[in-house]
Amino acid sequence: TYILGIETSCDETAAAIVKNGDEIVSNVVASQIDSHKRFGGVVPEIASRHHVEQMTIVLEEAFEQADMTWDDVDAVAVTEGPGLVGALLVGVNSAKALAFARQKPLIGVHHLAGHIYANRFQTEFEFPLLALIVSGGHTELIVMHAHGNYELIGETRDDAAGEAYDKIARVLELPYPGGPQIDKLAAEGEASMTFPRAWLESDSYDFSFSGLKSSVINTIHNATQRGESISKQSIAASFQSSVVDVLTTKTWKAAQSYQVRQVIVAGGVAANAGLRRALENQFQDSGIPLAIPPLELCTDNAAMIAAAGFVNNNQGKRSGWDLNANPSLPLK
Ligand code: ATP
Ligand code: MG
Ligand code: FE
Repeated sequence: TYILGIETSCDETAAAIVKNGDEIVSNVVASQIDSHKRFGGVVPEIASRHHVEQMTIVLEEAFEQADMTWDDVDAVAVTEGPGLVGALLVGVNSAKALAFARQKPLIGVHHLAGHIYANRFQTEFEFPLLALIVSGGHTELIVMHAHGNYELIGETRDDAAGEAYDKIARVLELPYPGGPQIDKLAAEGEASMTFPRAWLESDSYDFSFSGLKSSVINTIHNATQRGESISKQSIAASFQSSVVDVLTTKTWKAAQSYQVRQVIVAGGVAANAGLRRALENQFQDSGIPLAIPPLELCTDNAAMIAAAGFVNNNQGKRSGWDLNANPSLPLK
């Protein structure tokens, strides 16, 4: 089975073809980072316009890389939500038009299911499975009891991890997106400052990063006001150490208490070197296998959407021609 995946939920226009849900045949991502950089973040109106301009280009490239035609494709999977509504609409409407014209089944996919299934290219899933999702808009712990089954056990009460990275980076005057920049600086510095870690209630798997964010920003502002120079490297390292500490500890606790057979990590922040190292150390010798996607599959792409779409297709979860973008689609 060959699934064509389409992703336009934020600022990446992406198309990919995936075989049997676990083999990438082609994977094309057109990033808009350069267009949004001067605004310090994603401008929704600009994102939608770029998706319209890039859609046919990435689709043609996906077929070309795969050396395939529409005759070889069995179904079209597309991100229906969550994300920016105008951005999602471009992908959803393209997928609907193409699937209708080529008489292929249409499959709506949840963006976070996509992030989770980015791990399928390197591992089978063993259930119960614990997924740590850390992205630009989400920080969640999810237990899966079977394919396509998602039990939310914890989530952020304020900022997402990636959002915190991007905001701190902005205060440090680093270019957008800030996550990779802070990651780089953190590797060059020592975590010499102690920033808060929000553990919340002892039995909670929820997260909170707004207190940490305020504390880091206050530290930077106070130093600037006193005319003191401050090491961006140690700020980055100390901030990252707080984020990584909380994420790793809560993931470890959840893995124990839900007695999962596998842990997978998903979303853009899964590309973070400090987080990858801490999780690998924590789960090494634990008997619980840990999977983290390669860097290019952590951030938004369409291969992950096709992989999640394969599961929906197998389970008969197909969409009608009334499929619509849903910016706040729940994962269930
Ligand atoms: P969502 O998936 O929640 O809808 P999104 O699609 O915008 O949000 P992703 O593309 O999954 O998010 O990830 C982008 C986020 O990942 C950004 O916040 C970015 O700063 C962060 N990020 C990317 N690389 C790294 C890294 N090496 N370290 C920390 N954060 C990173
Ligand atoms: Mg993005
Ligand atoms: Fe994403």
